[in-house]
Amino acid sequence: MLLIGKVAIVTGGGSKRGLGQATARLFAEQGAAVAILDRDGEAAEAQAKALGDGHLGITCDVTDKQSCMAAVAAVEQRLGPITTLVNNAGITQPLKVMEVSGDHYDQVLDVNLRGTLYMSQAVIPLFTQRRSGAIINISSVSAQRGGGIFGGPHYSAAKAGILGLTKAMARELAPAGIRVNAVCPGFIDTDITGGKLTPEMLEQIVAGIPMGRTGRAEDVAGCCLFLASDLSAYCTGSEVDVNGGSHIH
Ligand code: NDP
Repeated sequence: MLLIGKVAIVTGGGSKRGLGQATARLFAEQGAAVAILDRDGEAAEAQAKALGDGHLGITCDVTDKQSCMAAVAAVEQRLGPITTLVNNAGITQPLKVMEVSGDHYDQVLDVNLRGTLYMSQAVIPLFTQRRSGAIINISSVSAQRGGGIFGGPHYSAAKAGILGLTKAMARELAPAGIRVNAVCPGFIDTDITGGKLTPEMLEQIVAGIPMGRTGRAEDVAGCCLFLASDLSAYCTGSEVDVNGGSHIH
């Protein structure tokens, strides 16, 4: 039990078979009280209920700063002092560069990048007061090598922005006792990708993965567990790959 006494927020955890849900489940199994935040509050509540007693599902749109502040206040009030934030909420759009409109750009940058900033800003004053806290930002292999079947160039840009934000926050906040790390998943079979793949597309994807399989949400959750736990007490500013070797650098 690596997370006894921890109170963790996982954004975008309302999706039934997403990375957020798997992370929330593993955190709960490891003893944390978990708050699942999602723009779909009913889905967040349902996923929190599935974790058992002592967890919380809350409506939160991470692109809205007031919504982030209100959700963080509610978690503190109902679950106690927050120790861990997983910035997992994200959207993607499978577009080519000339197809990306200003609206597309705003939507993808807003959820992935602005949302990561706003949620972090909502917990940092609390973490600073306590001189302790861990922030885990979900980036992507798309940030590191571009492209991919489901991510457009604006998605790669947003996820690369998350890596920059992670490193800047890690450097600034280390003296305050706050650790900030990023996880870069490769191709993971979830709702963001699921149901849209032909067997030929899957074959093409797997051919580019040295480990010979796509990832599972649990693979990413395990990495988040390490970064949330005291086992990673000396890790900050890291960019941890969970990609089966599809991008080795
Ligand atoms: P899912 O679509 O399953 O989960 C993302 C969740 O975020 C959904 O519940 C979604 O709600 C929610 N969300 C979207 N916008 C907001 C918002 N404004 N406020 C709060 N919640 C929001 O995706 P995954 O689990 O696959 O992805 C999780 C993270 O991992 C994302 O950041 C993604 O970019 C990243 N990632 C995923 C990879 C993969 O292969 N699956 C690979 C690399 C990175 P709704 O359903 O309403 O949109």
